[in-house]
Amino acid sequence: MSDLKDVITAYRNLSFSDRVVFYSTVSSDVDVREETIQTFLIETRMGDNCSCLYCKGDHVVRNGKRKDGTQRFLCRDCGKSFIPGSNSITTGTRKRMGIWIKYLKCMLDKKTLKESSEECGISVTTAFLWRHKILDALREVTDKVYLDGTVEADETFFNVSYKGNHKNSKSFTMPRKAHKRGNDTHSKGLSAEKVCVPCAVDTSGVSYARPAKLGKPSSSCISAVFEGIISPDATLCTDNEKAYRAFSKSRDIRLIQMDTDSHISVRDGITYGVQRINAYHRTLKEFMQKFRGVSTKHLGNYIVWNNLIANNRRKREETLGLMFGHMLSAGISVRNRDISARSPLPSLEV
Ligand SMILES: [Zn+2]
Repeated sequence: MSDLKDVITAYRNLSFSDRVVFYSTVSSDVDVREETIQTFLIETRMGDNCSCLYCKGDHVVRNGKRKDGTQRFLCRDCGKSFIPGSNSITTGTRKRMGIWIKYLKCMLDKKTLKESSEECGISVTTAFLWRHKILDALREVTDKVYLDGTVEADETFFNVSYKGNHKNSKSFTMPRKAHKRGNDTHSKGLSAEKVCVPCAVDTSGVSYARPAKLGKPSSSCISAVFEGIISPDATLCTDNEKAYRAFSKSRDIRLIQMDTDSHISVRDGITYGVQRINAYHRTLKEFMQKFRGVSTKHLGNYIVWNNLIANNRRKREETLGLMFGHMLSAGISVRNRDISARSPLPSLEV
């Protein structure tokens, strides 16, 4: 009995994200009842004072139940009516939270939209919208990473893809004829039809990458991507690309560039290489291939997804907990129509 008390006390001291990890660990083998999830959300999101999810005020009363049994609350301070999952990207979707958890598991398994929609009993369109709402919320996690120790960096390239931009849309004009699938633009070299994605990975497996510009990397795009992401105490290992020199010099980061022939560099008896970043590129390319041509406007989101699940030093339950926790705590709201209306070449320095 005292063991149980200890567990309960320890549980109460956990943060919201850690409680989610604990919860998803103990519930991963059982089919969790929706009521259990709802109780969990009330406890973790509203706390002991049963505070409002919008204004944090504690004059909150129970206000009947939705048709599906979900408890409704009313805040007497701000007047808002809400349910335990409100004020998150799940707001207004009218789907039970258990379905969202199921969907996150599909994302962990890199399932396609069709596979996920069948598994969760939602439409392919909903599966698409959820994918990007979740990734928008998780971007807040991946944008806060900090790479330290020996950091390997190198850029990789993806063909520009206008997939998902309707050719009859008034706001979009196809800048060129569509490529047939499988057409290789590589023969044109690093033309304006390639998106440059600078990537970096450190010794603990933490990675960062984002689409930066069209064509060859520049010093300013390397600085823009890695500013605040790579620790000034890190040792940065790259190939002979000169764009990294200005970045490391201005941030006073130790830079080791590889010998062009051997792809290694020996300093003070230590051998430095770029194998880890090459392995990262392979994983990222394999991940993108699974989705048969990712549209450039969503490329950044797919990288967020890859980076979350590519770190194999984290257990599956921990990643699921991290995703669920951030999905509910990210301070963003994403409207359905804004997802497909994204710019065909978003935030690229052309
Ligand atoms: Zn309120």
